[in-house]
Amino acid sequence: MGNSYRKDTICVQAGWQPKKGEPRVLPIYQSTTFKYDTTDEMGRLFALEDEGYFYTRLQNPTNDAVAEKIAALEGGVAAMLTSSGQAANFYTIANLCQAGDHIICSAKVYGGTFNLYKATIRKLGIDCTFVDPDDPAEEIDRAFCENTKAVVGETIANPALTVLDIGKFAALAHKHGVPLIVDNTFATPINCRPFEFGADIVTHSTTKYMDGHAMAVGGCIVDSGNFDWEAYADKFPGLTTPDETYHGVVYTKQFGKKAFITKATAQLMRDLGSIQSPMNAFLLNVGLETLPLRMEKHCSNARKTAQFLANHEKVEFVNCAMLEGDPYYALAQKYMPNGTCGVLSFGLKGTKEDAVRFMDALKLCAIVTHVADARTCVLHPASHTHRQMNDEQLREAGVTPGMIRLSVGIEHPQDIIDDLEQALQQV
Ligand code: PLP
Repeated sequence: MGNSYRKDTICVQAGWQPKKGEPRVLPIYQSTTFKYDTTDEMGRLFALEDEGYFYTRLQNPTNDAVAEKIAALEGGVAAMLTSSGQAANFYTIANLCQAGDHIICSAKVYGGTFNLYKATIRKLGIDCTFVDPDDPAEEIDRAFCENTKAVVGETIANPALTVLDIGKFAALAHKHGVPLIVDNTFATPINCRPFEFGADIVTHSTTKYMDGHAMAVGGCIVDSGNFDWEAYADKFPGLTTPDETYHGVVYTKQFGKKAFITKATAQLMRDLGSIQSPMNAFLLNVGLETLPLRMEKHCSNARKTAQFLANHEKVEFVNCAMLEGDPYYALAQKYMPNGTCGVLSFGLKGTKEDAVRFMDALKLCAIVTHVADARTCVLHPASHTHRQMNDEQLREAGVTPGMIRLSVGIEHPQDIIDDLEQALQQV
């Protein structure tokens, strides 16, 4: 099933198309390995001459069906599942860069991504410059170097909730002959398809809305197939020159628009092995079937909750790009006219201790290290997800010490608001 169907249909139907007598529901291929009749048949798979399954670390039919669905949803040509969103974001960079290379990343990104690019890839010899995504293009342009290989941002940043000007970032990246990678976890392809605005590669923590029920950690990388690696062959030798570890295959020559994902599978999954388990892929697929319904409800509940908080005397500020007056309202209207996501943040008037008292008084909204599932939850970034950052890094990531992140679920909106109101009374 291609990209011609609408997103709701893709969510339900794409990926697994059973033939006569096969199970209607995507089966869990809970098998590490696959059988062949002749030595040559299997040999051709190892030579990447035939397509097929031989070992689940490289590919598995359950995972591939789900990856195909996500690729169709994003409007891409190929996708691969990974064990987590972190693995997806690491593999995307590792697939393009080697020691001595450099990337540019929006400073307003998830704390885990910030650490990954600030510290871990630096130990591997890959440097990262963080830029303020709201700076004018000319300012961001100064961050590009000869060895820059990619630009990275999040459609809606976690937890800063800033909206990325995808068009601005894509134009800058392309001017310098490098791809734009967008982490589309919070918006999901239901609310935004970054490829339509010039992004080249999209990543996901499928752990969030795609799964939607907080059941399984997972990630995904999707390639638009639009970036012309051969036009910048000198920058991307890994894609455009023979891979000696794989029989001298040249990925762009042999796999065309699927070069990026094939290389990530053949090299990175082979060597690093961060696969998603077929069981988790099955659960993710069930989640995907209702993604459009859930995103609509998450957004409508978040809009109502944000309005309630914005009008409350004990609340100092609310970050929600669906609220008129939010600094990112115009960008959200451009890139996500139907809604952004269910996550918002707000600051209470008063001290950090007041914020903690409020959190502890909540009954329905639970304190968990998660966002973007069916159940409303809260978190205090400065004491939880962003605990490792100093005050300056916190400010750069758009986090204030008293800020509360609220992930609005799909319960009845009045029950969520009532719980917030009774907790606000305790402050
Ligand atoms: N990207 C974003 C935007 C996230 O919010 C997260 C996790 O919260 C990640 C990536 C990392 O994903 P995972 O927790 O699945 O490794």
